[in-house]
Amino acid sequence: MTTVGFIGLGIMGGPMARNLLKAGFGVTGYNRSSGPVEALAAQGGRPASSVAEAVRGATVVITMLPDSPDVEAVALGEAGIFANAAPGTLFIDMSTIRPDVAAHLAEHGAGSGLRVLDAPVSGGEQGAIDATLSIMVGGSADDFDAARAVLDAVGKTIVHVGPAGAGQTVKAANQLIVAGTIELVAEAIVFLRAHGVDTRAAVKVLAGGLAGNAILDRKAASMLAGKFEPGFRIDLHHKDLGIVTAAAREAGVAIPLGAAVAQLMGAMHAQGHGSLDHSALLLLVEQLSGVHQGDTA
Ligand code: NAD
Repeated sequence: MTTVGFIGLGIMGGPMARNLLKAGFGVTGYNRSSGPVEALAAQGGRPASSVAEAVRGATVVITMLPDSPDVEAVALGEAGIFANAAPGTLFIDMSTIRPDVAAHLAEHGAGSGLRVLDAPVSGGEQGAIDATLSIMVGGSADDFDAARAVLDAVGKTIVHVGPAGAGQTVKAANQLIVAGTIELVAEAIVFLRAHGVDTRAAVKVLAGGLAGNAILDRKAASMLAGKFEPGFRIDLHHKDLGIVTAAAREAGVAIPLGAAVAQLMGAMHAQGHGSLDHSALLLLVEQLSGVHQGDTA
């Protein structure tokens, strides 16, 4: 049986680790706080109390952590993955981090005899629960093939997009599109309400035409209800738009709408709304328009 060491059992990592168990993999789980580790153990996983313990005996190690410094902290150093995993271990980082950090980790991992892939995901908490994530993978073709069975257990659309770091570059583009789409859906909702239109009827017909998109399908109902439990936290999307704007600048390309949305997401973060779902951009559009849901719903 392949044993997977899984580090980072949060909103995404928790259900992904459970789906690996369901698919018949052994899973040893570690998380900074102990609650998620206990939850995994109750479902048949093996609890670990350190990174070193999580990677011991594992042939595959997955990380699903918030940000670049978190992945670097867990991968590097004496207590980290690279120092403790057996040579030949496949290390798959599925967090969303900076492409240059992913490329650096791949280089560093190879120096420690590990095979490294960056494999960020899209599809949200529901995609993680349903094992239907889109997974964009950077690294060598051989390592991608070796990871396939594990990735199949957590995702549905799994594509090798290029060398180390390429998965994170594609994920950055994903986050640009998602943030921009949320902002436009939020603006449409405020616009429709201001005209006294039945927003639920409007969303239904919009979703069937050229304006149809996954935000309308999956987030509009909770946005209309004013419910913003995460989901995907504003703080994480703020982090991702920082990655997008820096990578665009590095490549010398202009992303004017993306830059504007990055500012709006940053404003939500600055106003203390970082733990709300990213669809709470609606609150900012309402604020800019001087309306509240209660006024117009
Ligand atoms: P989360 O904050 O819910 O989970 C992160 C987990 O990592 C937490 O349980 C935290 O305790 C743990 N952790 C943090 N530092 C640690 C450390 N040093 N050692 C061990 N555990 C540590 O975040 P999430 O929503 O699950 O997102 C994880 C990653 O996936 C992020 O990079 C995010 O951008 C990306 N992502 C999230 C979603 C989503 O919808 N939530 C979708 C796609 C991608």
